Amino acid sequence: MDRSGLLIILSSPSGAGKSTLARRLMEWDPTLRFSVSATTRKPRPGEVEGDHYYFREPGEFRAMVAAGNMLEHAEVFGNLYGTPREPVEEAMRAGRDTLFDVDWQGGQQIRASALGNHVISIFVLPPSLAELERRLISRGQDAPEVIAGRMQKSRDEISHWAEYDYVIVNEDIDQSAEALKTILTAERLRRARQTGLGPFVRGLMEEEGR
Ligand code: GDP
Ligand code: ADP
Repeated sequence: MDRSGLLIILSSPSGAGKSTLARRLMEWDPTLRFSVSATTRKPRPGEVEGDHYYFREPGEFRAMVAAGNMLEHAEVFGNLYGTPREPVEEAMRAGRDTLFDVDWQGGQQIRASALGNHVISIFVLPPSLAELERRLISRGQDAPEVIAGRMQKSRDEISHWAEYDYVIVNEDIDQSAEALKTILTAERLRRARQTGLGPFVRGLMEEEGR
């Protein structure tokens, strides 16, 4: 059925598991498009340009913002992050759903944008702050002082949980991934989103038969 694409926003304190959940959702539905952000943060080992992020110098990043090419942007942990606008609008026109891994500031800006009525937003909480720290350490990709900084900011991020449509406490990763698929399935079935349904139902009612 025809419908314009959904914008699915995933936010959480760093380390709660949103990248893992995003990956699971993309494996389940390969038609989903992941919104690749631009950032001034340095790549982590294994991160690929254009796949995980577009890694940019601060000057280049600011030029993209000044040219109006960012749907939203924000400073997180001392680095700039932003969502390139054009690929999102193109996916929406094509009826493709886009998945965003952005912080609360990005969530607010996308909700407030002209595309806001196509947004569904999901906040991922860790079972505890101790477990959050364990996950950041076990990921093994950030220096101890970087992890400490992320832990310090986690309360800030968590304080925005009530701005989201859905909340998942990510205790068991399989259960959380199932919950996420359920949310997306239900949202896609909302009557108002199935804009091609009117003619289909009229056709049903006009069908010859018993
Ligand atoms: P990680 O979340 O610990 O893997 O660390 P990252 O450096 O990849 O991301 C840090 C934070 O920036 C996370 O909260 C992301 O959700 C957020 N982020 C990533 N891309 C964007 C973006 O385009 N816009 C905004 N506003 N936040 C972003
Ligand atoms: P984020 O993208 O929110 O920063 P990640 O998805 O990178 O978080 O997850 C942080 C670490 O925690 C990773 O090593 C990941 O494998 C692990 N992790 C994610 N979800 C769970 C879970 N439910 N139980 C245990 N470990 C998890």
